[in-house]
Parts: sequence; C-alpha cells; structure tokens
Amino acid sequence: MNTQSRWDFSIFWQEALNQLKNELSDQEFVMWFSNISYHSSEEGKLILSVPSAFYRDQVKQRYTGIIKEKLYELSGFQLDVDFIVTKRATSESPKEKNEVSDTPQPPMAVKPVPVSVSPAKNDPPKKHPDLRPDYTFENFVIGENNTLAANACMAISKNPGTAYNPCLIYGGVGLGKTHLIQSIGNYAWAHNPDIKIAYVTAETFTNEFIEAIHHNKNHQFKNKYRKVDILLIDDIHFLQEKTGTQEELFHTFNALYETNKQLVFTCDRPVSELKQLTDRLRSRFERGLNVDLQAPAFETRFAILKQKVEEKKVPIDDEVIELICRNVTTNVRDLEAALTRLIAYADLLHKKVTLDIARQQLKDVFSNPKMSNITVEMIQRVTAEYFNLSPNDLRGKKRTKAIAFPRQIAMYITREITEFSTTEVGLEFGGRDHTTVMHACQRVESRMQTDPSLEPIIQRIVRQIKEYGTK
Ligand code: ADP
Ligand code: MG
Repeated sequence: MNTQSRWDFSIFWQEALNQLKNELSDQEFVMWFSNISYHSSEEGKLILSVPSAFYRDQVKQRYTGIIKEKLYELSGFQLDVDFIVTKRATSESPKEKNEVSDTPQPPMAVKPVPVSVSPAKNDPPKKHPDLRPDYTFENFVIGENNTLAANACMAISKNPGTAYNPCLIYGGVGLGKTHLIQSIGNYAWAHNPDIKIAYVTAETFTNEFIEAIHHNKNHQFKNKYRKVDILLIDDIHFLQEKTGTQEELFHTFNALYETNKQLVFTCDRPVSELKQLTDRLRSRFERGLNVDLQAPAFETRFAILKQKVEEKKVPIDDEVIELICRNVTTNVRDLEAALTRLIAYADLLHKKVTLDIARQQLKDVFSNPKMSNITVEMIQRVTAEYFNLSPNDLRGKKRTKAIAFPRQIAMYITREITEFSTTEVGLEFGGRDHTTVMHACQRVESRMQTDPSLEPIIQRIVRQIKEYGTK
C-alpha cells in the first residue's frame, strides 16, 4: 500500500480548528478538540487521531457534522472525516517521554506526525524539589471521568497564566487531583527550566505561614509564594476556618493574578460547599475554570490498572485486572492498593497470581467494609432535608412524584454506602419489599445516565451524610 498519500488536507483542519476555537465555549473546545490531531489524508477524506475509543465515539457523534461543514466552507470540497485511535506505545523509552510536541499530548496518544524536537531532549531536566517525578500526564489515563480536567491541565501547563486562570480541580479522595496538579508543574518545568513553580498543600501553606509570623519571617514567606510563575495549591478545603491563612492567600492570589501568573487549586468538593471561607476568597476560587473529577467507570478503571501493570512489568493477567476493576469501584487509590497487595504476594511467594489467588487475597477488600457508623435513619434525615421533606415522608406510603423519587434516591444511597441488604433496606423504608428497593436502585442508576445533574446531587447528599456520621 502506498502510505505516502498525495493528498494533504491538514491546512484545512488547522484553520477549521482555529475557527471552532472562537465559536465554541472554552470548556467545550478544551474538552473535545484539544486532543484531536491531524493524522493523514486520503482522496476525499481527512483522518484525525484521537486518544481513546471513548473519545472517538463522542466526537464522532457530536462533531462530525460541524467539522464537515467547516471543511466544506474552507476547502470547497465535501470531505469525509474519519477518526483513528492512536494508543500510547507501551515500550516508550524515558527519552521519548520527554519529547515536546506543540500540544500537550494525552497519555494514551502518540502523535502520529513528526513532532518538534525538544530543547531538553539530550538534557533531561532535574527533579523539581516540590514535585513527584512520576506524577506526569504520560502516566495519567484519560477517561470519561476526567477528560475535561486533564485537558484543562494540559492546556495550562503549555501556556501558564493565559487561558484558564485561575483553575480549580475538585473531586473526592483518590481520583487524581494531586496527580494532575503536579503534572502541570512537571510539564512546565520540563519545558522551561527557568520557570518558577511552587507546589504546596494548603496544610503546609498554613503551617509555613504560622511559622513565618512566629519567627518574624513574613517577608521570606511572601517572597516564596508571590514571586512564582505558577502556584499550585493542593487541598484548599483545609483552609476552612483558617481565617488568617485565608487572608494571606487572598493577597497572594491578587499579587499573582494581577501579574498574569498561573494559579491552580484542588479541593475535595465544589467551592460553593466550603464552609467558613471568606466571600472574597471564594469568589477568587470561583473565577476562571472550575472542573470536577468523577469516579472512573469500569473501562477507565481497567485502562488505569492495565497501565500500572505494564509500568511495573508484573505478570498479572487481564482476567485478574478485570476481577479487581469489577469489585473496586470507589477510586483509583483503592484500585492501586488492591494491585499492590497482589504484587507483594506474588513477589514474596514467587507465584503467578491466578484468579483464585486474587479472589482469596482480596477477599476483605472486595467485601468492602462500608461505613458501619451510618444508620438508615441518618440517610433518611439528610436526604429528606435536601428535598424539603420529612424523614417520615420517605418511610410513608405516599407515592406522589415529589416524594417517590427522593425516597428512591435514599434507598439507592443506603445500598451504596451501607451493608444493608435489599430486604433490610425495604424494612427500614416502611416495610417495603426487597424488589421495590432493587427497582429503586435501577431507576436511580438509569436516571443518572440520562440526567447529568443527578449525580452531583447524590454526591452532595452522601457527603453530608458522612459529615453527619463523623460528628
Ligand atoms: P487525590 O489527590 O484526588 O486524592 P491522587 O492524585 O493522589 O488523588 O491519586 C491517587 C492515586 O491514583 C495516585 O497514585 C495517582 O497516580 C493514581 N491515579 C489517579 N487517577 C489516575 C489516572 N487517571 N491515571 C493513572 N493514575 C491515576
Ligand atoms: Mg491529593
């Protein structure tokens, strides 16, 4: 086959991209277009590469029409558009990993066209003192749960202080916030050794600030954080109730923001749900881009573990990976923990991990010690309050829509975060049958598929229940 096609529509693609950037919202553009790159041309056809099958399906469905239209406007030809998935090569050498391309590439993608040569190629940058060297975009698997956040971070690392400033990434524990925020630092540092980056957790920031006051070293503290090009602050929920530190951060924020320095934060919940935060700091956090990380779906969990297995070069079969991914659904940290345990076992005993061994070894992980201090009554109370109902409404007989759906949500949450069986849950909800509970869970799950606003609501209720439970 002749691979050197005489067709080249790349110039039309570039222009189409420029125009779409102006026509779509920033969020939409970053989410869907920053990871598409030109692949090749054939007669009457433009071929684009995308990082995953998920991406391909989404982009195909949403944007083929718009892209074709644009190409027609620009070229005068009715060009077809096709997508190919370019997965990351598994045997990448570290040197190749440091290569720069014009756009930050998603980890699963290999740019199929020649890339510009990195100035740092023969001179690998040394480790940044604040950053973990393995928290890079290359090591971060993009899935449906983190596409927007990952793309925003890649865009920021390429052009700090311009498009998405400030940026706040929020989401539950173990979903990749620290990995992503540090990847920004690592990427920027690798491509510009002169850039000044500070990464700090809000807790360390607070402690250093208190120390500085104590030892009259305010000036050093200010110098450290107000003279950087990129300031990365992890876990800002820690600042709740710390009014002195909030005040200091407010001024740090302003000093950097006014000089177009990049600010990135992470938080375990949306800023609107932080308590004891001054309004002026809240409004600073909410300025710019706020993006969330969700728990990964099965396919993404599988891709992540598969990558970890390949990285670590351990002989663990796909069926074992699948077993873990089916059973550990909470977050990436728990997934990794399960894998680490199997690897330790295999190492110690020099045994290959079979399905049976994995089942045996991970029994307690899979049985998932859910929150034992949470009662159905607490769940009913918090859920009812959210929907302006009384707990009795949820236990009662009424089946009006305003009550029935909140009741189903409460049942669903009970099944998700406690150990109660469907029969037990049914009893707690006014003596209903276990099939009613099963039906409720299915209903909520299918509603979540079609209504994107539902999941954040449920997450919020769950968070409140857990807070309530630790009081
Ligand atoms: P958080 O800060 O949100 O609590 P972390 O960034 O510490 O979470 O992530 C927990 C672990 O999971 C880390 O080891 C991280 O490398 C890994 N991880 C999370 N998301 C991904 C991903 N999409 N791809 C690869 N590894 C991930
Ligand atoms: Mg973290």
